[in-house]
Order: sequence, then structure tokens, then C-alpha cells
Amino acid sequence: MDTQHLGFDSKLVHAGIPDDPMGSAVTPIYQTSTFAFRDAQQGADRFAGKAEGYIYTRIGNPTINALEVAMAQLENGVGGVATSSGMSAVSTVYLALLSAGDHVVSQASVYGPSRILMEKHMSRFGVESTFLDTTDLAAVKAAIKPNTKIIYVESPGNPGMQVTDLVAVAELAHAHGALVVVDNTFASPYLQRPLDLGCDVVLHSITKFINGHADVVGGVLVAKDEAIYKQLRAMMVMSGCNMDPHQAWLVSRGLKTLSIRVDRAQQSAQEIAKWLEKHPKIEWVSYLGLPSHPQYELVKKQMKGPGAMLSFEVKGGVEGGRRLMDAVKLATLAVSLGGVETLISHPASMTHASMGKEARLASGISDGLVRYSVGIETLEDLIADLDQALAKV
Ligand SMILES: *Cc1c(COP(=O)(O)O)cnc(C)c1O
Repeated sequence: MDTQHLGFDSKLVHAGIPDDPMGSAVTPIYQTSTFAFRDAQQGADRFAGKAEGYIYTRIGNPTINALEVAMAQLENGVGGVATSSGMSAVSTVYLALLSAGDHVVSQASVYGPSRILMEKHMSRFGVESTFLDTTDLAAVKAAIKPNTKIIYVESPGNPGMQVTDLVAVAELAHAHGALVVVDNTFASPYLQRPLDLGCDVVLHSITKFINGHADVVGGVLVAKDEAIYKQLRAMMVMSGCNMDPHQAWLVSRGLKTLSIRVDRAQQSAQEIAKWLEKHPKIEWVSYLGLPSHPQYELVKKQMKGPGAMLSFEVKGGVEGGRRLMDAVKLATLAVSLGGVETLISHPASMTHASMGKEARLASGISDGLVRYSVGIETLEDLIADLDQALAKV
């Protein structure tokens, strides 16, 4: 079925499902490593790209392709490339688009491994990088060099919820011959479509909102331009970080309810943020849907809604944060985000503990900062859980 002209929610449900000889209503799992050719000529034609059809699952597979087509349509790109994890989507972008002598401008607060991979490893292959606050457009402009190839942005940022003006960064980058890559994991295509805002490549840890059920690790890349899409696909195939058919099938199943899951979680997040802002044991709340957020207006311009992620500062520093972690009962104490279950984590004692206090504070992660990923449980239960836990702080 041609789904290009349909609305976003219809695409979530129907995009990418292949015509199936058995009439399967959903994409079947093609759990196979390889595909038989009818004869030698068909095999030769497929390898030469002269005939449609599959060859080998690392190169392509109908179940994985169904997800890639859906993601490309949802992000308004020319093609999608599914990968084994969010980090392999990041490494595929780096390896496909960068060469020795190139320079990257990147957000200082990007997902930790995305920064380590660039600073510790891409540097070994002669790629230079500058990490800074991409919400500061003057700083981004000043950092661009003649060899700047990519501006890499995560918006909203983790866990500080910084929002970068994607239209402005794309204009800046393009004026200097650079590409913009956006990690759109926190927003999902339901709330933000960076390619529509002028950016060139969008990537996701599909592990989070897109799959939404905390049972798969995966990633995806979508490009606006055919030539870039082909470069990304070739690198995924050569480096072997393909998704698995079963993984793709689970993600396609989760994807169908993306908008209703995000709508519900977002509604609750708004209420929880307002409730926390008035709580005496809370120093501050950072939520894109609160007028107190410094980029409240930009969020309204750039995103369909403020999403389901929030961070807040518990009074009492590291100890306060730890106490809260130990006292919650309904929220699950775990890293990751974007699932149907509410997750709570404390970056200073967990994900960002190895950074050292100074670097951690410099990237906006204070001692008592708690990251809260709102799920789809009953709102009153979530508030009651936080209430009883904060009483113990
Ligand atoms: C989780 C995450 C990643 C990495 O994805 P994995 O699926 O864990 O490899 C990258 N970027 C952001 C913003 C994330 O939250």
C-alpha cells in the first residue's frame, strides 16, 4: 500500500508492510540468513543491482526493510538504515561521513559514548572535534573551520534538556558546506522531524521511544539525500552492524503505538513537572513544557510537544538523589528511557559518575539531578510514588 500521502498515525500503523504471498496482515519475521536465487542469472542480476530482491540478511532482509521504510516515511527522508544499536547508528554516521583531516563540531552534553567514540577513537584516524554548547549559536559559528564536515547535535539534550535551534544550526552549517546530524532519540519523529527543519541526517536509539517496550536494543539512521543514504547503508553493510530480523519485528510492533504512548506519557509528564515545581524538597525542574524552561518558546516552534522526559534537582545533593532512588517503588531504578514503564536514574552516582565532579558540573549535571522518564502508568500512582519517596529524602 502507498502510505506516503497518509497522516503520521496512519504511517505508524501501515508504512513499510510488504505485500505478502500468504496475505499476512503484519510483516512476518523472515528469520533467515540468506535468500535462494531462482537461477544463476537472477543471482548475478541481484548482485549487479539490476534486479530487485534479497541476497543476504546483513545486506538486506524484508522484515528489517519494513522498519527502514516506515522510519524513512516517518522522518520524511529518502531512506532508512536500521542498525544493531543506537551506538552503531552513531558509529555508522562517523565512519561513513568522516575522513582523516575532517573536523566535527558537537554538543558537549551528547550521549557519553557518542563523545568518547569521537574524542578517543575517531581522533586515532585523524578526525578533529570541538565539543561545545550548541544552544549557543555564536559559539557554534566561531568553532566552524574550513574542514568542518559535520555539526552533530542532540536535541533535546540528555539529561539537561537543552534545546538547540535546528533551523539556525542547519543554515549555519550549510553556509559553510557542513552537514547536520541530529540524534532525535529524546523527541522521536512524533514530536520533532529534524529533516523537515533543514538537517541532513537523523538518528535514533530505537531502544527508547520508538520501540517503547524496553525489550530491544537497536538504532536507525534516516537521510534526506540519496547519496548520503547510500553512503550510510554501505557502511552499515561493510561494518556489519545490521539489525536482526527478530529485533526489527519487535520494533515494528512497538512503533505502531508511538503516538498514543507519547501522548499519554507527555500528559503525565506535564502534570508531574508542575507538581514537582511546587514541592519543597525540589530545587528546580527542567521540563520542556514548563514556562520556566529557558527555551520554552523554541520548543513550541520546533517540536509538536514537550515529550515525556524531565530532570529535577533534589535538595541534599548526591545523598538526596540516592535516597530518592532507594525510596521509589513504582518507578524502576534503571538507565534508558522512553518505555511504557517509568524509569528513574541519578546521573551523578550512575551514568556520569566516572566523569569526575568538575566535568560533570560543567556539562550541567549537578549532584542532586534526577532523570525521570515518564511511562504510561496511572498518573495518580506516579505522583503518590514520588510523594512517599520525597518524604524520605
Ligand atoms: C541510549 C542512547 C543512545 C545509544 O543507544 P543504544 O541503543 O543504547 O546503543 C544514543 N543517544 C541517545 C540520546 C540515547 O539516549
